Amino acid sequence: MSIQTIMQEQEGVIKYQLHHQHHPLGAEIDLLEINAWRSILFQLKLIGQRTDKYGGLGFGNISRRLVPSSNQFVISGSQTGQLAELNPEHYVLIQRAEPDTNSIYSRGLYPPSSEALTHASVYQQDADIQAVIHVHSPELWHNTLPLKIPYTHANIAYGTTDMAQAVANLFISRQLNDVGLFSMLGHEDGIVAFGPTFAEASTLLIKTLIKSRIEYPYPYR
Ligand SMILES: [Zn+2]
Repeated sequence: MSIQTIMQEQEGVIKYQLHHQHHPLGAEIDLLEINAWRSILFQLKLIGQRTDKYGGLGFGNISRRLVPSSNQFVISGSQTGQLAELNPEHYVLIQRAEPDTNSIYSRGLYPPSSEALTHASVYQQDADIQAVIHVHSPELWHNTLPLKIPYTHANIAYGTTDMAQAVANLFISRQLNDVGLFSMLGHEDGIVAFGPTFAEASTLLIKTLIKSRIEYPYPYR
């Protein structure tokens, strides 16, 4: 079992320091539910791949807290957004995340998603949050202001220490007290939904999409 230290890089931007053990996850980690939600989100095109955007790379990722009292979580692997179905080997365990030092300690057969640090920041704010979903939605992202979706500013790049701090600030300023959803205006079409269950996070996402289509039916695609 080797520990690699590499700089995670995607879309041309270096993100965090990754300390990764290339070793399979334990069979005791149940991936059925997270994977079922992930497949549905792929079918809704909230996770996926587009040739016309994001440099043609896969986008979107999903995670769940490992156990309620822990800050460890399981997240889909880097560069898996384009796959319709994931297998257990596509998931990664984040054993420790340190937004302050820009470090991630992980284990799995894939490196973790480039946005693992953002997920980590969400889990660290509230022990009741058990599920985090990052999708790309042009409709929600462009309508962030009229829909009154909390947001991180356009000068904050995704997957960075600054983003982790900006997410923490959304909680500290109580903007996420009543809604488990925010936009990352520095990450094209980037939306994060979270909640105590995947059902609640996903439902909020879809309800907000419906509201956007009814109230602001501009064809952002
Ligand atoms: Zn993204």
